[in-house]
Amino acid sequence: MARIAVGGFQHETNTFSPVPATRADFEMADAWPGLTQGEALLQAVAGINLPAAGFVQEARSLGHDLVPLAWCSAQPSGRVTRDAFEHVSSLLLRSLQLCDGVDGVYLDLHGAMVAEHVDDADGELLRRMRALVGPGVQIVASLDYHANVSPLMARSATALVSYRTYPHVDMAECGARSTRVLHDLLRRERPATALETLDFLIPLTSQSTLAEPMRSLMEQVGAREKSPLVSLCFMPGFPAADVPDCGPSVYACGHDPTAVAEAAREIARTVRAREHEFALELHSIEQAVAIATQAPAPRGRPLILADTQDNPGGGGHADTTSLLKALVASRVRPVLAGVLCDPAAAAMAHAAGTGGRVELHLGAHAGVAGETPLVTRCKVMALGDGRFVGTGPFYRGGRFELGPMALLDIDGVHVAVASRKQQAADQAMFRHLRVEPADYAVLALKSSVHFRADFGSIASRILVVEAPGPNVADPAKLPFRRLRTGMRTKPGRG
Ligand SMILES: [Zn+2]
Repeated sequence: MARIAVGGFQHETNTFSPVPATRADFEMADAWPGLTQGEALLQAVAGINLPAAGFVQEARSLGHDLVPLAWCSAQPSGRVTRDAFEHVSSLLLRSLQLCDGVDGVYLDLHGAMVAEHVDDADGELLRRMRALVGPGVQIVASLDYHANVSPLMARSATALVSYRTYPHVDMAECGARSTRVLHDLLRRERPATALETLDFLIPLTSQSTLAEPMRSLMEQVGAREKSPLVSLCFMPGFPAADVPDCGPSVYACGHDPTAVAEAAREIARTVRAREHEFALELHSIEQAVAIATQAPAPRGRPLILADTQDNPGGGGHADTTSLLKALVASRVRPVLAGVLCDPAAAAMAHAAGTGGRVELHLGAHAGVAGETPLVTRCKVMALGDGRFVGTGPFYRGGRFELGPMALLDIDGVHVAVASRKQQAADQAMFRHLRVEPADYAVLALKSSVHFRADFGSIASRILVVEAPGPNVADPAKLPFRRLRTGMRTKPGRG
């Protein structure tokens, strides 16, 4: 039995978004808990598909004594403010300093956090943690599939362990793997590590493990992770980050330096050899609406339009209206769209009550260039308090707090509206408003890939739509200035 500190600080930073992540954003709950400290942390994450939850459960079953520090996350957005980064970092470090010594430290990190004053925010946190505990205490960090891993992160942690699925249905499992890695390392010498970086960015929608080449690449990584390796990770990275460490990487950790280096090189070589397989298939709004009109979906099997560029899970605001307007103007019915973040519209709907009618300037309040609100008079179909539990494989167990919600009817187009932005990746987000997504001909979802976990089985077809939004689907269209030398912005492109 060992004493293990547990903490977490997750943010995926889209440096092209002008909206920063503030301390209040980390304090607030969404689908996941808000900032939680001490013993309350263990209960706050319990039962949720989160790495910290998986770690805690596995560590308890192995009989370890846990020292909870602090845990928080915020919706993907622009850079984390200096205030938020320093506040949360010092909560983690101070509580560790006060706890009278530990044998190991586990951190639930994302790996693509950029702060206002530090490009490599995860690396800086790990560096400070290492400086505090010294070389003799093992630090294991779990990382998101979209981590942009830096040499400082690889050097500061004893071991890194990353998700292997996108949609991330294995977050809790990754936490449990982290427990086993830390358990294995507790009474051993510090292992060897290797980090291989790749020189092309991979668009988010080309990274799904439900399709090739990622499906078989990740299977290969999982199968290759055998003794003397303790961890082998391929992280395709989060491309909307204009920092030198942006990009895919392969990380290995184990007890034989030669085997560790060779495993990382081998996986990196395989990924490079399959670079040409990363396809990016995008549809314009016009193409998507034409397909929906000409080839109506069979009953119970909707056509799904992924409004990827406004996905709040990638730094979007969940309030662009171009796709929604095109659907309202089309003859395609019935349509369900969402989840649109518009607290004022939700409040007006609540004031009018179910069955009431409201005049709205819906959406487009975040200031995305060229976007204007949908001016409409619509009927309030249903209301909700935004409190419900995630039921799909991705948001499983998440105790959502999205503020007042409403379902609006705009001439047969139903729009789910929330007061806080949240990626539409769980059917519970619509069922909370008493509608069944499978009953619609078209679903327009503000999500890139995660929706596939819960909606994939009901879809007759899925189209990724290039409607306006800050989560630019094709990284080659982003105005990068600070990528490392030689980094290409698209697979198979010079
Ligand atoms: Zn991710």
